[in-house]
Amino acid sequence: MKDNSATQQNFCRKDILAGVRRIVVKIGSRVLASLERGLDLQVMGNLVQEMADLRKAGHEVVLVSSGAILAGRTKLGPNFNKAFNLAVNSLNFKQAAAAVGQTSLMWNYEKLFNVHQVQVAQLLLTSDDINNRRRYLNARNTIFTLLHHGVVPIINENDTVMVEEIKLGDNDNLSALVTSLAEADLLIILSDVEGFHSADPCKDDTACLISVVEMITPEIERLAGDGKHLGTGGMITKLQAVHKAARFGVPAVVANGRRPGVIKQIMQGDEVGTMFLPKQKGLTSRKHWIAHALKPRGKIVVDDGAGKALLEMGKSLLPSGILRVEGIFSVGDMVSCVRLDGVEIARGLSNYNANEIERIQGRKTSEIKTILKYKSYDEVIHRDNLVLM
Ligand code: GLU
Repeated sequence: MKDNSATQQNFCRKDILAGVRRIVVKIGSRVLASLERGLDLQVMGNLVQEMADLRKAGHEVVLVSSGAILAGRTKLGPNFNKAFNLAVNSLNFKQAAAAVGQTSLMWNYEKLFNVHQVQVAQLLLTSDDINNRRRYLNARNTIFTLLHHGVVPIINENDTVMVEEIKLGDNDNLSALVTSLAEADLLIILSDVEGFHSADPCKDDTACLISVVEMITPEIERLAGDGKHLGTGGMITKLQAVHKAARFGVPAVVANGRRPGVIKQIMQGDEVGTMFLPKQKGLTSRKHWIAHALKPRGKIVVDDGAGKALLEMGKSLLPSGILRVEGIFSVGDMVSCVRLDGVEIARGLSNYNANEIERIQGRKTSEIKTILKYKSYDEVIHRDNLVLM
């Protein structure tokens, strides 16, 4: 973490923002709606105006918007869940509320953007759409086509069909995946907090806003605590999101979405919110997808030699360095490579299934064919399909 004043001397936000063209703006539930009053059209209108201004200034905008569940809960009223005997936090109730609220969300966005002669489109995604490379590429093509035609894609999780196993979970992480999906240059996460603080501002009045985070260290993660708000994400999910964006080589800003003119101020390079700097050399879109969009289906425990070969020598993972396999996975699944001490060092797409790897682990590449009766690849994970963590 950098001290604020020290940071200002050697760092200029404007330089980081120069050349930014495509921007993902994520707006949290708490910015847009409250349980008592539902959607706040004034705030929505202000933010839409700001996004329309961004477009006028030559930027492309992809919007990730929460708010469906909260808007739906208000619309259904306090007696709906009681009448159907549903707990407010039950998946059934949230799905019903999301279905009811999503239409209001889009109806209002459409009206508000139309004032600025801007067309919008709705994309509802599940983790299945992100995990499956073909569906991922289709979603990406759709986003590119929409942007090409000047349309603002408005994305939310498809809450109505989600079950625990396929749930993306929170729109902070979704916005980071969309950043890579859309190949955006900047991620702006608008929330009900000013940014990232040196302590929890609700509990500690010495807490101060950190202007720039150059690297997400364990100390920064500890500071994120587990503050939860009305939406799904707290500061932890925001950190996960900015971390993913950083690995894609994209800067991110977390700021208060209720602050008038917030997007304009961010783009001017003003000291609003917290800016998270990207890793200098970002992962390619495909490697980012492997590392962050896919869920690991199993683990491969590697020995020290293989760990070094992966981390320091840019090598592929061969059977000889494998000590053990955990989980059941198939060819092409994403697996996590861990050291004996449990630390994850890489993720990659496996060329063999779990059962096959168990049979060839610790053996030479030249023995694969004799053991399995066939050999499709020399490597268990080829370097091209491997990302260091
Ligand atoms: N998809 C949820 C909604 O629209 C929001 C999830 C989140 O806040 O992260 O209400």
